Amino acid sequence: IPASGTVNTTVVTATGYVRQEIGRSYGQRPIQDYIFGSGPVHVAFVGAVHGGYEWNTATLAYEAIDYFSANPDEVPAAITLHIIPAGNPDGIAKVTNGKVGRFYDFDVPDKSLEGTFDGRFNDRGVDLNRNWDCEWSPEAFWRDQPVDPGSAAFSEPENVVLRDYLLRLDVQGVVFWHSALGIVAPGGCGTTHPPSEALAGVYSRVSGYTSQAFGAYAVTGDASDWFASQGIPAITVELTDHENTEWENRNRPGMLAILDYFASAATTPTVTPEP
Ligand SMILES: [Zn+2]
Repeated sequence: IPASGTVNTTVVTATGYVRQEIGRSYGQRPIQDYIFGSGPVHVAFVGAVHGGYEWNTATLAYEAIDYFSANPDEVPAAITLHIIPAGNPDGIAKVTNGKVGRFYDFDVPDKSLEGTFDGRFNDRGVDLNRNWDCEWSPEAFWRDQPVDPGSAAFSEPENVVLRDYLLRLDVQGVVFWHSALGIVAPGGCGTTHPPSEALAGVYSRVSGYTSQAFGAYAVTGDASDWFASQGIPAITVELTDHENTEWENRNRPGMLAILDYFASAATTPTVTPEP
């Protein structure tokens, strides 16, 4: 039985993980973290900030949870791995006839872009990836369409939950899964952030997603940009389409490379320069 209710729990259960509710959405749906390992370095992967419009980023997260449950040794000793399948559970509920928690692709009856578009937003109609406090603007866009960025930066409970929880963990790296541009984009708030660029390179090399800045149109209030502004390496990984998880060949190697990257940084002794 997964433990719940406390933060920073590192008890490993028979399933290989601890599942923890870290907070609630605007629509009062739980936001869950699946925690693997107990190392000192916390690394987080977050799916479906864009909810049901990008539901395959949540099914990717659940596939990852299955994988690390079956292969707990793939989490390096230095690492505590956090997998948060849905940063926007309201949006998932919109496309799954109200599912809360785990769902499968067959739970999404209408997979068309039109049918899932409203699932991009939480129950207040806000685009959560326009609501973070980096270049937040009251006028925000998805492509050329205006979207609601919330009444102010961090007006939305989902983002407050993620921000506070991950800062409290002293998270060392954050990967946000989105779809569907087929790229890896490093975080950076108004400027480049080399540690985020390095992280994007690690994921890109093994996944085959091209590492490039998100330049299609101006994005305000982005989550990975905000983490970069806090000095925390963060990237946005955009899957190639809106249905497949690309687990075997792209995102499993990507995750494992990220974990190894932080594990080797943690175990490399600091060399003191000679005077
Ligand atoms: Zn997205």
